[in-house]
Amino acid sequence: MLRVAVVGSGPSGVYAAQTLVQQREVPGVRVDVLDRLPAPYGLVRYGVAPDHEKIKSLSGSLRSVLEDDRIRFLGNVEVGGPALSTARLLELYHAVVYCVGAARDRPLGIPGEELDGVHSATAFVSWYSGHPDAGAFDLTGVRAAVVVGAGNVAVDVTRILARGAPELEPTDMPDAALGALSGSGVRTVSMVARRGPSQARFTTKELRELGALAGVEALVVPAELATDPAYADGGAAAALPAVARRNVEVLRGWAQAAPDPGAARRVTLRFYLRPVEVLGGPDGRVRAVRFERTAPDGAGGVFGTGVYEDLDAQLVLRSVGYLGVPLEGLPFDPVRGTVPHAAGRVLRAGRASVGEYVAGWIKRGPTGVIGTNRPCAKETASSLLQDAGALARRELPGDPLEALRAAGLRPVEWPGWLAIEAAEGELGRSLGRRSVKIPDWAGLRGAAGLT
Ligand code: NAP
Repeated sequence: MLRVAVVGSGPSGVYAAQTLVQQREVPGVRVDVLDRLPAPYGLVRYGVAPDHEKIKSLSGSLRSVLEDDRIRFLGNVEVGGPALSTARLLELYHAVVYCVGAARDRPLGIPGEELDGVHSATAFVSWYSGHPDAGAFDLTGVRAAVVVGAGNVAVDVTRILARGAPELEPTDMPDAALGALSGSGVRTVSMVARRGPSQARFTTKELRELGALAGVEALVVPAELATDPAYADGGAAAALPAVARRNVEVLRGWAQAAPDPGAARRVTLRFYLRPVEVLGGPDGRVRAVRFERTAPDGAGGVFGTGVYEDLDAQLVLRSVGYLGVPLEGLPFDPVRGTVPHAAGRVLRAGRASVGEYVAGWIKRGPTGVIGTNRPCAKETASSLLQDAGALARRELPGDPLEALRAAGLRPVEWPGWLAIEAAEGELGRSLGRRSVKIPDWAGLRGAAGLT
């Protein structure tokens, strides 16, 4: 038997586990999927926006993998913490595949970023997704919000801020977040990109959805669109990647739409503005963000023009990408925020380390959609399977689950997770809603039967 630990139960971890047990070349592979949280599914549970039901429903296919007899889910197990080092984990298994994602947000690196009211989009997403480590957001007094960045996460947080109560209520958002968002006084959300519409990173489906929210007027500044050579000139647009071409066409539609004076909220996409400072009021809270206008340099980049514009905001969310976090005992490339690897094999001092692998965002950086993790995990799994002969020669000390318990860990197994799911259904029913997330450690552990 080849015993493998997969660390992280998000899409890359589950796809890695699936590939390992469903292949035919190496028989008898058994996989334990470990997660720091008592609940599985990683960013599908704690990152995909709660109003994106179709993407959320991917958890159904992840579930059927984790229910395979050859796979065990062991939640509530922190690898790299005091009870379980990465070195010890490698003693307990023939191989370990790290699929720990990219947990940190990138900072802007500008003055004023530490002011009250300035947060990472990651923190905001964690809050409305019910992540047990998330802090609380108080939206009292927030009328205008600025979101910095033009990726799909920026679109997610902009949309959630702009949505009304009727659309948020059917989600599994924790009750406190639902109350704060649906009762908020947010009237304008500006999503601000430092480059032009044809360089924006969001996808067209997400952009269209943002333009079609009930009671929300979607706006652009025509002069900013016209600054983009690909917007102004059809010939230049033809050379763009298809997604950028479609985005530009959607924004053209926004620019041509009739005004909607009755809209309850406004979402404005701004372009060619790079953040230079967050401005605070006498109370130490953010009051505006100062941007420098940029201009295209003809090669996809921009340069500063020395012209500045302040956008009022009582809430600022920076959404400029995720960054991997180093894991105790594993090599780390601080610039890329990833673990160095060759085809998924962890590289230590440039040489492949026997038995240690990576997949997902910690391997390739925070890019791509959920499906991108499938080929990524397959590549890693096939490297591991090529090494299987050498790996399986090592005698293991016994069932790793016993060793984890002996180290003082209290793993939440699959029935524990099912109990959490049932408790969330019950909580939803008691609130007159559908299933509602339990947003704290004590609640999750209690529901799983750990007292
Ligand atoms: P992203 O796609 O990399 O976008 C980051 C954005 O931040 C870019 O617009 C970038 O602009 C901007 N940026 C970076 N540094 C900046 C700075 N110093 N000042 C101003 N702007 C700055 O990252 P993401 O939105 O976090 O998304 C991560 C991944 O998850 C992506 O692959 C995304 O598609 C995926 N995702 C998908 C969905 C979905 O499918 N619905 C939802 C959420 C996330 P430049 O281009 O100028 O660098």
